[in-house]
Amino acid sequence: MQPLRGTKDILSDEILIWQHIYSKALKILTLSNYHEIRTPILESTTLFTRSIGNGTDIVNKEMYSFRDQGLREITLRPEGTASIARAFISNKLGQENRIQRLWYCGPMFRYERPQNGRQRQFHQLGIECIGSFNPMADAEVIRIAYSILKALKCPDYQLEINSIGNTLERNNYKKALVEYLYKYKDDLDTDSLKRLQINPLRILDSKNQKTQEILCNAPLLASFLQKPSKKHFYNVCDYLACSNIGYTINQKLVRGLDYYNYTAFEIKTRSLGSQDTICGGGRYDSLIQQLGGQETPSVGWAIGLERLVLLVKNIIALKENQPSIYLATQGTLAQKKIWTIISILEKNLISFELDLNGNTFQKQLKKASKSGAKVCLLLGEDEVHNNIITIKWLKDGAQEQLKYNNLSTLINKLKS
Ligand code: ATP
Ligand code: MG
Repeated sequence: MQPLRGTKDILSDEILIWQHIYSKALKILTLSNYHEIRTPILESTTLFTRSIGNGTDIVNKEMYSFRDQGLREITLRPEGTASIARAFISNKLGQENRIQRLWYCGPMFRYERPQNGRQRQFHQLGIECIGSFNPMADAEVIRIAYSILKALKCPDYQLEINSIGNTLERNNYKKALVEYLYKYKDDLDTDSLKRLQINPLRILDSKNQKTQEILCNAPLLASFLQKPSKKHFYNVCDYLACSNIGYTINQKLVRGLDYYNYTAFEIKTRSLGSQDTICGGGRYDSLIQQLGGQETPSVGWAIGLERLVLLVKNIIALKENQPSIYLATQGTLAQKKIWTIISILEKNLISFELDLNGNTFQKQLKKASKSGAKVCLLLGEDEVHNNIITIKWLKDGAQEQLKYNNLSTLINKLKS
């Protein structure tokens, strides 16, 4: 039996890296006053069609949607922001505090062609700063992504940033872009030709070389931005510079989801082939209103954790936790008494592994050596009758017997 195509089991060796990423990120997020939120993996399909947009790849081709027994149209979430916007409205979060700083982490689902760093079930860590139009919010969220990557000693990452303006500016630009591209329509690749009708901005990040050549002389989005949009963008860039965060302005960066406006950014790497984006985000000022809430300007990002794991896995050397003490028992009495010893170890935060093979002490000692434990505690009928425990230090084979009441001397040795 194999897992479904595009899904995988994450085994305990790799989980160490996930836990390391999680704990570093949690520290940084907590320092900046971001709070965790968990939303359901299942949402109604309309949440995503209304927010991500009908002309996008996610909604058109990638969603895992089905009808449940109650004939509701359901989708496994393909991303986190729409659900958070929904949760913000459902729970009236803005009433308690106008600014909500939230983070989430969990599985997302997209029906895509699986490749290195691209799966059908993948994981995102994301943050949303909800309730502010201040460009400081944009700088804050980008800075946090940077701090996390830095704390993880992630090699090779670059920030690209752009402003995609407001709806009006974008619509004017779309018109000019379509008009320009229409002249070259016979030379465009098939995907771009389709997008000319439904989502012309996405043509800008086409990977087709001929299309990219055509785009060299295309009108630029920046020249359609008016003063307020430009000022917002300059401010964001300024604050990034003040945080010593290097960036390049990529005028063709547009992002694949409809809800973004003004700031759009991606953090890219050159180490993962065509799956080169580790983090994608931007400002989404009308999403919450579009879903039925009040006007709530917001900004956020999501990091693809599988890609991050690929980047950092060779850098951080992590060792699986090994038990300090291996517990070998023989006979019914010993197997009853061991539970008292276990609770003493647990209270003293001493890690242990209880032998479940039930073989001879000799075989249990072999297992103990393999387990990486420092010491093996042997408890048999004799030990129980005499109220003692036998201890074998696994490094040099030294053996001693302790009064049961003196278990604390062993615990102190293990702690030191
Ligand atoms: P891409 O261009 O690589 O398809 P995207 O623009 O669709 O990415 P976003 O929707 O912005 O991605 O999601 C944010 C991040 O989540 C991406 O930068 C990437 O790291 C990760 N991600 C997206 N789709 C997948 C996937 N199918 N498998 C693994 N990670 C993914
Ligand atoms: Mg994608």
